[in-house]
Amino acid sequence: MSTQEVKICQCCGMPLSEEELISREPDGTLNDEYCKWCYADGKFTYEEKGPLLDFIVGHMPNPDNIPDEERRAYFDECLSKLNYWKGK
Ligand SMILES: [Zn+2]
Repeated sequence: MSTQEVKICQCCGMPLSEEELISREPDGTLNDEYCKWCYADGKFTYEEKGPLLDFIVGHMPNPDNIPDEERRAYFDECLSKLNYWKGK
């Protein structure tokens, strides 16, 4: 039995379903822990969770009109489970 597990970015939680979404080291090798937006040229885009949460709350669809504060708390909890934020 083969299970195809889609990895998710350990910083923002985005599914890394396609190779073009996966970040690369400065030497061009794939780093499949992160997406190309969170990690580029050997540097992480987000040092703190705040700006990333701002981005997610601002860009994720919100069809049920859930208050931003509530969504922010929810995404905050999701991010806390990812490796990148565990030690922060
Ligand atoms: Zn990411």
